[in-house]
Amino acid sequence: MTTDKIYLNGEYLPLAEAKISVMDRGFLFGDGVYEVIPAYAGKLFRLENHLERLDNSLKSIRLANPHNREQWRALLTGLLQPGLDQSIYLQITRGAAPKRDHAFPKDVPPTVFAMASTINPHTDENTGLKAISLEDSRWKLCDTKAITLLANVLLRQQAVEQGCAEALLFKEGHLTEGAASNVFAVIGGVLMTPPKSPAILPGITRDVILEIAETNNIPHNEKAISKDEIKSASEIWVTSSTREIIPIVELDGNVIGNGKPGPVWKTFFKLFQDYKKSLA
Ligand code: PMP
Repeated sequence: MTTDKIYLNGEYLPLAEAKISVMDRGFLFGDGVYEVIPAYAGKLFRLENHLERLDNSLKSIRLANPHNREQWRALLTGLLQPGLDQSIYLQITRGAAPKRDHAFPKDVPPTVFAMASTINPHTDENTGLKAISLEDSRWKLCDTKAITLLANVLLRQQAVEQGCAEALLFKEGHLTEGAASNVFAVIGGVLMTPPKSPAILPGITRDVILEIAETNNIPHNEKAISKDEIKSASEIWVTSSTREIIPIVELDGNVIGNGKPGPVWKTFFKLFQDYKKSLA
């Protein structure tokens, strides 16, 4: 659920009072970028990493960052409720130009919007979720966190209509990521995930998991994963800031492992919770 107070262009407002122009390029073209940043016990998680990724997304679409790091911290903190676990959605578009033209407008200020929502990570150690595999129909800038998400929306919807929580995407026979998540698989006892490239979003949760694996000497590898290889996985997880680490226990109707969250997931679930607590 979204909390009532939102941030829009320099002001905190009740959600119902926040208005933007129909000429906003986010509305007309999907011309903007976004971030999703979790906050645990009222404290922003990995803010520096999220703001660095925001810088990269803005560079990719050639839009100047309207705020420095300290301004962002203050702006986002103003939306948090003390002590709560929440996630912040922030979006920057190329603003509202007087006329609809694909090329960039001149001297138009960006639109900056942010809101906080409650967060519901997967904490059930006994059940997992289902996924389907689909052809990755997206564009070539998947490392840019663009608000232009129609392909992701259609892919996720296809999964939901088949009773699944996520679509695992394959490009030229190899796994890229989920419709709104990164993917990990345990294959031959090794935790694997596709390497960073323009074909995937460099997930902050993905980085945390790889760091946890490294610190705890758990065998892991960033490596291309083929459609055949994923079939031999003993565990599959999808990861994101709002859902953390979700065990996938069925892919395309085939049971993964014994149909329950696996031992490696259980280890990482605990280590991830411990890591969160250590920062709180
Ligand atoms: N890939 C895609 C396409 C996503 O939408 C997301 C979540 N927004 C992720 C990966 C995971 O990124 P993060 O861990 O930073 O939330």
